[in-house]
Amino acid sequence: MPKTDVLIAGSGSAGIFAATWLAIYDIPFTILECRSGPLEIGQADGVQCRTVEIYESFGLSEELIREAYHILEVCFWGIDEDGDGQEKRGIKRKSRAIDTEKGLSHLPHVILNQARMNGLMLGKMETILKEKGKWEEGKANGIEYGWTVKGLEIDETNKDDPNAHCVRVTAEKDGEEETWEAKYVLGCDGAHSTIRRSLNYRMIGDTSDTVWGVMDIYPLTTFPDIRRKCTIHSSVGNLLIIPREGGHLVRLYIQLPQGVHPKEVTLEDLQAQARAIFSPYAMEFAGVFWWSAYSIGQRLAEKFEKDSRVFLTGDACHTHSPKAGQGMNCSLQDGYNLGWKLGSVLRGLSPPSLLTTYVSERSKTAADLISFDKELAKMFSRKEEHPGEFADYFVKSGRYMAGFTARYGASEVTSVAESTPQVATGITVGMRFPSAQVIRFCDCKAVQLQRVLQSNGRWRVVVFAGDINEVLHRDRLNELADYLEVIVQRFTPATDDIDSLIEPLLVLNSKFLETEQEQIPGYFWPSSGKWGIRDLHKTYIDDEHYNSGHGHAHEKYGVDPSAGAVVIVRPDQYVSKVTTLDDFEGVERFFECCMIEQRTERSSIVKQ
Ligand SMILES: Cc1cc2nc3c(=O)[nH]c(=O)nc-3n(C[C@H](O)[C@H](O)[C@H](O)COP(=O)(O)OP(=O)(O)OC[C@H]3O[C@@H](n4cnc5c(N)ncnc54)[C@H](O)[C@@H]3O)c2cc1C
Repeated sequence: MPKTDVLIAGSGSAGIFAATWLAIYDIPFTILECRSGPLEIGQADGVQCRTVEIYESFGLSEELIREAYHILEVCFWGIDEDGDGQEKRGIKRKSRAIDTEKGLSHLPHVILNQARMNGLMLGKMETILKEKGKWEEGKANGIEYGWTVKGLEIDETNKDDPNAHCVRVTAEKDGEEETWEAKYVLGCDGAHSTIRRSLNYRMIGDTSDTVWGVMDIYPLTTFPDIRRKCTIHSSVGNLLIIPREGGHLVRLYIQLPQGVHPKEVTLEDLQAQARAIFSPYAMEFAGVFWWSAYSIGQRLAEKFEKDSRVFLTGDACHTHSPKAGQGMNCSLQDGYNLGWKLGSVLRGLSPPSLLTTYVSERSKTAADLISFDKELAKMFSRKEEHPGEFADYFVKSGRYMAGFTARYGASEVTSVAESTPQVATGITVGMRFPSAQVIRFCDCKAVQLQRVLQSNGRWRVVVFAGDINEVLHRDRLNELADYLEVIVQRFTPATDDIDSLIEPLLVLNSKFLETEQEQIPGYFWPSSGKWGIRDLHKTYIDDEHYNSGHGHAHEKYGVDPSAGAVVIVRPDQYVSKVTTLDDFEGVERFFECCMIEQRTERSSIVKQ
């Protein structure tokens, strides 16, 4: 019977993200996927700014941004009416608006096919496995295609033993059955999840599924906004236009009447409906690249886990409409949330209790998504109470749709009560660490600070230390550095570099040209890696750059340089704790709650 640490059912967005983290943490995993190979075309396409940030953290944003269509504006079309509210001649543009609020992210909202999105991450996984010497040419390398998962059972007798392979998953390929044993199982197998059904968990919510038609087309049209994202409300139906990457392809989402069955919908039905909605503009189809009709209810699984051994992610535990372009984003972010936690637990760095935060964090996010989707669906289909109501609502919801409202509640990795938020008012505990431009001290490169927080399994302690040229600031930084080094050593395996698990990052308010490397405590430029070379890439300065302007990072983060601040950031870029520069005990207490001590002997503070 094959054994693996983590068995993942399904290689969609959620499964691939979870698996990539496991590759980073060096944890054995197997994905069972019923398709014969990777996704080739179709499905979701909307990529939130937050998702682009996540891709950037894996080093994939350049390709993504280069290939994608960038959404910068939304146009709102409605019924062309005369002064008495009588329809004149079909539709007309009512208003236009910026798509993403200025300053929300340093990265754009884009459109890229889910097959390519998944492909980029699969490429990353391959690179990681190759770097670790785990890649075998011509072999499955963790993804078994053609296997349909049939069911699972948990061995109740040893499920409390953290090392037990207590979950058995049965799958079938070409008429042959095989059973895998795993420590953990992830149900990433989409809306009709077999894993969820095996657990007998119901999906709770709307029973009346809305049917959507989706077509990726090459249009021959007189419609003027065909290269802009548009919502169209016409008297014969509603439609969303999403221009696609490459310059010619366009996706149309068409809401179909209640009662229609997806299997009965034909391409001709969709084309006829599109023509009617676009009237009086011509709409013909030079080509259709992909089309589909599918139904969606707004539903949540009654539970997201079983015995902290089986976890549901993505569409397996939440489904909703595609209107707000959230499907792929929310699902891959489930995998992104769970993957590093599993990696950390299975590496023996964190206790298994860490996994409960997956459920508390992502079930709330999913519930928020369902509420948002219901509200949006209502606004989308009802008649406006006043002109411009829908456009106003859409613009107001921009922050949510960009993926920046997720706020995780208090837990062992989100230290709300023990934080001192007033020292960094632009940073929110439980939300993602925002970005600001700073100058990397060692080579004068202007960088986005968030970009430094790569998804490689490291926690970060970001220290805003003020001006190192002031004696007071230098002394307090030296004291903090001494304490941090001792704290971090406790949780870092003795054979690993001091910055391998918890990486210190220093942000100074000093003048770039008046600062010298020797002034910076050695803890912030440790010797590391194969050659034991000192790593100078951890110090950043908030100052005017030669040719990229001033990032005003302290202003953005709400940090008073004379007081300073310490920010603990999780491996997934979410903020765990904000505190003062002298809260050594608070920092240590935080890591004691979510990490397992690796060295019991405590080294002494060098300078007292
Ligand atoms: C046809 C279709 C069109 C869609 N179009 C849009 C859209 O236009 N816009 C939008 O926002 N969202 C769309 N969605 C939804 C969006 O794709 C999902 O929200 C998102 O893909 C969910 O990611 P996931 O990883 O949870 O699941 P999925 O991406 O669905 O991945 C699940 C994977 O599990 C595999 N699988 C399923 N059952 C088994 C099994 N028993 N054994 C082994 N493998 C299994 C599947 O083959 C699949 O690869 C669409 C979904 C579908 C199915």
